[in-house]
Amino acid sequence: MTNKVIIVGAGVFGITTALALWERNYDVTILDPGPIPHPLASSTDIAKVVRMEYGADEQYMAMVEAALEGWDRWNTEFSQPVYHQTGVLMVRRTPMNSGDYEYESYQTLLKRGHTPQRLSADEIAIRFPAWKPETYVDGFFHQRGGYAESSKVIVELLKAGEERGIHYQTGHVVDRFIERDGHVTGVRTRKGDKFEADIVVICAGAWTRVLIPELNNVMKSTGHSVFHLTVPKPDPFTPPHFSVFTADITSTGWYGFPAINGEIKLGHHGPGQPLHPINDKRVVPDSDREDLRNLLRDTFPALENAEIVYSRVCLYCDTLDEHFWIDYHPEKQGLFVAAGGSGHGFKFAPILGNLVADAIERKANNWLPRFRWRELDLTKTGEEAARYRGEHVDNASGA
Ligand SMILES: Cc1cc2nc3c(=O)[nH]c(=O)nc-3n(C[C@H](O)[C@H](O)[C@H](O)COP(=O)(O)OP(=O)(O)OC[C@H]3O[C@@H](n4cnc5c(N)ncnc54)[C@H](O)[C@@H]3O)c2cc1C
Repeated sequence: MTNKVIIVGAGVFGITTALALWERNYDVTILDPGPIPHPLASSTDIAKVVRMEYGADEQYMAMVEAALEGWDRWNTEFSQPVYHQTGVLMVRRTPMNSGDYEYESYQTLLKRGHTPQRLSADEIAIRFPAWKPETYVDGFFHQRGGYAESSKVIVELLKAGEERGIHYQTGHVVDRFIERDGHVTGVRTRKGDKFEADIVVICAGAWTRVLIPELNNVMKSTGHSVFHLTVPKPDPFTPPHFSVFTADITSTGWYGFPAINGEIKLGHHGPGQPLHPINDKRVVPDSDREDLRNLLRDTFPALENAEIVYSRVCLYCDTLDEHFWIDYHPEKQGLFVAAGGSGHGFKFAPILGNLVADAIERKANNWLPRFRWRELDLTKTGEEAARYRGEHVDNASGA
């Protein structure tokens, strides 16, 4: 008998999980308020960074190595290329040193046989002319990486799901579970519709903790600003003169993309604003606009007065250890969660579905133990939190 699965949420977690489960002969229905891509979903955007660099963390690098093979494959299978290999430039305002995110990433790339190119201040200025000379004095460029056009990816995956017979039900906000003897047997929506299933998979991104309030102890949602600027002269902001970059991200928080249709996107990673996904308004803070202008002045002088044509607050759904949350609920049989890691999850799209499907089928997978249901304590901050994450470097988990 075919197992029926309800997936709540049609972001990148939901749709890739649906496709992987369909391949394994499940009968899959996805519920989402719609439209898909949903305007408030984290997956919805013009671009997301695809980078291998995760400090000294080899598991994530290995996962991105596998994901990149998937991005190359999707580029040939989809109706249009969605992954663009511009390379990734990671630079610092001070020399790279042991323990830095950039230094550790560089060393881990070498260790795994990759060929990043270390760059001095002069080499940065010659090779990437839009960058203000002398501000950034050390770093590296790694050709294997770039960005994915994330909303286009969702549209392509949606189409693939429709062709295969995955059922999409839009116009539905799930607001409670149907439970029998400690077993979740389906969901109810705000309109009162009922959907029954053998397994309910919550892929609701930042809204996950609303549906499963017991996760409030371990999951938080924070707002992060994103800006699009018009580029007066695109050439210096176009590959090979410009690539996906992080601009001393540990101290400035800024990362960005080459010009896409005459616009450049910059995003700010950092603690963000704690925001409830439903109750709080998403307002870009003035301090982020000021910070952006300061960055532009110091980094890309040609953009100092560039017009901001679009801005947005996008929600991370993060755990204190910044790792995904992929497991069955320990007390409610039939209820499964696939979320978290929301500052950096999109790049894994080509491998996410199978990762989640392996966990649903309780199949052995070397990457999964880290993402199991676990005890965390969100009250820990600063160094204590870093120790808690078992880290010696900031893995710059945003983007
Ligand atoms: C500012 C920002 C920048 C980022 N940059 C990068 C990057 O450069 N590279 C990278 O790899 N990752 C990046 N990420 C992370 C990446 O976007 C996320 O990891 C990923 O998109 C999360 O996908 P998701 O499916 O979990 O959630 P979402 O995409 O948010 O999808 C959740 C879905 O659930 C639906 N939903 C919610 N509640 C309900 C309900 N009650 N009933 C039914 N449906 C519901 C929503 O409508 C939505 O469609 C970034 C995130 C942010 C916020």
